Amino acid sequence: MIVMKFGGTSVGDGESIKRVVKIVGDRLQLKPVVVVSAMARVTDQLLTLGRAAGAGERDEALNISRSLRERHYNTAGELLGTALFSGLHGDLGADFEALDELIRGISAVGELTPRTSDHIASFGEILSSKIVCAALCAHHIDAEVVDARQCIVTDNTFTRATPLWDEINRQLGVRIQPLLDAGRVPVMGGFVGATKTGITTTIGRGGSDFSAAIVGSGLGAQRIEIWTDVDGMMTTDPNLCGDARRIKVISFDEAAELAYFGAKVLHPATVLPAIQKNIPVQVLNSRNPACEGTLITARTPRCKNVFKAIAVKKGITIVDVTAPRMLLAHGFLRAIFEAFDRHRVPVDVVSTSEVSVSLTVDSNESIPALAADLAKLADVKYEGRKAIVCLVGENLRQVPGIAGRVFSELSDVNIRMISQGASEINLTFVIEEDAVPGVVQRLHKAFFSDLDPAVFD
Ligand code: ADP
Ligand code: ASP
Ligand code: MG
Repeated sequence: MIVMKFGGTSVGDGESIKRVVKIVGDRLQLKPVVVVSAMARVTDQLLTLGRAAGAGERDEALNISRSLRERHYNTAGELLGTALFSGLHGDLGADFEALDELIRGISAVGELTPRTSDHIASFGEILSSKIVCAALCAHHIDAEVVDARQCIVTDNTFTRATPLWDEINRQLGVRIQPLLDAGRVPVMGGFVGATKTGITTTIGRGGSDFSAAIVGSGLGAQRIEIWTDVDGMMTTDPNLCGDARRIKVISFDEAAELAYFGAKVLHPATVLPAIQKNIPVQVLNSRNPACEGTLITARTPRCKNVFKAIAVKKGITIVDVTAPRMLLAHGFLRAIFEAFDRHRVPVDVVSTSEVSVSLTVDSNESIPALAADLAKLADVKYEGRKAIVCLVGENLRQVPGIAGRVFSELSDVNIRMISQGASEINLTFVIEEDAVPGVVQRLHKAFFSDLDPAVFD
């Protein structure tokens, strides 16, 4: 079997969903499980709606819900025609009634908890999976919706829940395998899960890729396909640099590093289950299905270039912790990291000196509370609007003097932190957010102008 995951833009309107139906129809003999994201921008709108309800702005929230209802009805109507749509209309209508009920409840209380936020966000994938399934059925593909909340069992860390693998594998065996055995096509929403007691959770923004990998790993897929809106993993974000080129093949480790440091095309957790079961992941373009995309796999051909790609993560804050006491004081770093742990704030890049530690965190984490806690240990300063730039390539292990070449290209740029990753395959540094486009374009020109045709298109 294979898993085929379609992202938000791939199911963003009727025309896109028609392309999905064709792509799935062409692969039926491979026994696909289809995993879909919410329609493009819907998760953002649901989260906005949730915040409005939490602030007591009930009418504003209900208005957003109304426009979402219209968009989903119109798309379903366009795909199914009046007669078939009438079958689905009641089902979608019940979901929107439940959403509106939730909005009224939250507005009355005037508080949005992470738990209710997850409940609201889950509607996007629940709705899109029903519409995509109905569109497949309308084209005589024997598809059935599987509720992700019955398969993707997680802990209760709302908004970024952790999968409970044993429980999931058991549920996949009970709920999805029999459908495949019967020659049917299961269609499941990504991103969404539930605790053992059935409370809705989500597994983090962009998490539908991860859902696909969880399903692929649990069912022993021969391949996990991530269908998106670009031709594959590119040498850098094509929105940042018009010269970005397609990477034909890349290793699990390189892809994981790129995803972790901001290549949004793949959720960072996607690669891990694939590595554990050695399942190749293919990134493909639903608007250009003839393109062979990017193959992410364990074994890759030798590459003449040092780097495979540049990733960028914006919205970073640098936290500087300075304490003369650190001089010879063992246990100081532990105390700092314990504070990060208490606030559940993940750290990306770290650099230390005798008296200070600098760390980078995502700006949307709860930094003021963390800083107040750290201030009990030392002087704390933090500064936002930074970006991490990360160059990735397995050849970094072999080629000496590369850091020198990179930084001489950027001799006029204010570089705040540098780290040559412990994995030995990345070179990472932190700059001002405003400098990102210029820096990426210059590095791309310097390191990606003459590309090995065995690896790049
Ligand atoms: P989906 O909705 O299909 O999950 P995403 O928007 O999450 O799609 O990811 C695809 C986007 O990732 C692309 O449109 C592109 O702008 C961005 N991106 C960032 N870095 C890269 C990269 N190295 N290669 C390809 N796309 C990238
Ligand atoms: N719809 C979710 C999001 O926008 C998950 C995904 O698309 O992968 O974050
Ligand atoms: Mg995505």
